[in-house]
Amino acid sequence: MNIGELNLPAFQPGWVWLVGAGPGDPALLTVGALHALQSADVVVHDALVDARILALAATDAELVYAGKRGGKPSPKQPDISARLVTLARQGKRVLRLKGGDPFLFGRGGEEALALVAADVPFRIVPGVTAAIGGLAYAGIPMTHRATATAVTFVTGHNLSGNVPDDLDWAALAKGAQVLVFYMALKHIDEIVDRLIAAGRAPDSAAALVAHATTDSQQIVETTLAGAKQAAAGVSPPALFVVGDVVRLRNGLDWLGALSGRILDPDPLGHSDIRDAV
Ligand code: SAH
Repeated sequence: MNIGELNLPAFQPGWVWLVGAGPGDPALLTVGALHALQSADVVVHDALVDARILALAATDAELVYAGKRGGKPSPKQPDISARLVTLARQGKRVLRLKGGDPFLFGRGGEEALALVAADVPFRIVPGVTAAIGGLAYAGIPMTHRATATAVTFVTGHNLSGNVPDDLDWAALAKGAQVLVFYMALKHIDEIVDRLIAAGRAPDSAAALVAHATTDSQQIVETTLAGAKQAAAGVSPPALFVVGDVVRLRNGLDWLGALSGRILDPDPLGHSDIRDAV
C-alpha cells in the first residue's frame, strides 16, 4: 500500500493546515505532515523547521519564512496570522509548518483563533514535540516506574520573554518528578536558582539536550546546580531536563551505543525493579 491509498483528507484550496514538523529528523514527520508538504501551494515556516523537511515540499510550492526568534516577544505574530488569512483568501492551500507540535509552545492556538475570527477553514496536524523526540534520541525516558510517574513541560519564557512568574515554583520544585523546560537557555541561571530556592536538591540529575534529532545533537549530563555552567557550552535550541530519569541514559543511550558506548543494564542500581517487570 502507498500513502495515496490511505484516504488522507484532501488539502483543499483556501484552507490553512497548521502542521507540526517534529524536532528535526525528517524520520519523525507524520504521514499527515508529509502529505501536507506534498500538496501545499505555500509553506509558511519557522526558523526551527529543518531544511531537509522543507525540501520535501512540492517543487513549485512557495516557501515563506515567518522569521520569528524563539522566546523573544513577537510583535510580528499578528502579521503572520494576517498573512495566513490573506493567502487562504487567495485560494491557496496554505501549510503553516511549525517545529515540534503546533499546540505546544508553538503559538498554534493563537494562529488558529485568528483563522476562526476570519472564517478561514483549518486543520491541525500534530507533530512530535521536541521533548518527546529529543529525550527519545537522548536515551532518557520521560517516565519510569521506579522513579517518575509524571512529567511536566514548562516554558522558560513567558509572553514578555521572562521566566514565567505565574508558575507555582514551589509545586514544580517539590511535586514535579520530571521537568522539561523549553526555551530554557537564556534564563537558565534564574530557572536553576528558583528551583533550588523552592527546595529542589542542587545535586538532582539534569541534562541539556540541544539540536536534538539532528546531526548536531548535543547532550550534556549534569546536575541542577551544574547546569548553569554546562549551559555555556550549549547553543539553542535546547531543552533542560531535571529528574532522576536522566540517570537512565547510562543504560539507554542507544545512539551512543552505535558509536561504541557500553550500556549499563541497571543504571539506577535497582535490579530488583527490573526483575519485577
Ligand atoms: N512547538 C515546539 C516548541 C517551540 S518553542 C515543539 O513542540 O517542540 C522552541 C523551543 O523548543 C526551543 O527553545 C527548544 O527548547 C525546543 N526545541 C525545539 N526543537 C528542538 C531541538 N531539535 N532540540 C532541542 N530543543 C528543541
